[in-house]
Amino acid sequence: MSTDVIVRHEDRRTLAMRITPEGVVLLLPQGVDANSEAVQAFIAAGLARLPEPEPPAGPMGRGALEALVDRWAKRLGVSVRRIRVQQMRRKWASFSSKGTLTLAQDLLLLSQDLVEYVICHELLHQRFPDHGKGFRAMLSAWLPDWEARERRLMAQVMGKRKPHSV
Ligand SMILES: [Zn+2]
Repeated sequence: MSTDVIVRHEDRRTLAMRITPEGVVLLLPQGVDANSEAVQAFIAAGLARLPEPEPPAGPMGRGALEALVDRWAKRLGVSVRRIRVQQMRRKWASFSSKGTLTLAQDLLLLSQDLVEYVICHELLHQRFPDHGKGFRAMLSAWLPDWEARERRLMAQVMGKRKPHSV
């Protein structure tokens, strides 16, 4: 699996990179060129801080997966109508507004705490569509080590490689 870098320009003063199950999101101040050398160096530095990829642990069975989704759906007060597992080329997961949670087959080979992070992240999107402050505050409340899990997850696809050009 590979990943894209999604570029967003915002009213902000600093560069930021968020590593999410939907890909790497690069937040730039208005007018800053994503292809500039400074921005590329910033991305490379962020990726260089990722941990080493972990060996496969799974695969997690359907029963265990459903139990985990069910537990998080109850905790977060979110309804999941359907769980779908399929090959995904550029994301670990997505969650539709109709309640279909789609997970990448490769995700189920990773350790359970990473699968759990992705589920919690995706289900929270039903209440917070973006990765703003509210979203991150809720993640921190439910999974205090979510940022470490996110880096471990991204290490699986990015490793120490150079990202695709944005
Ligand atoms: Zn997300």
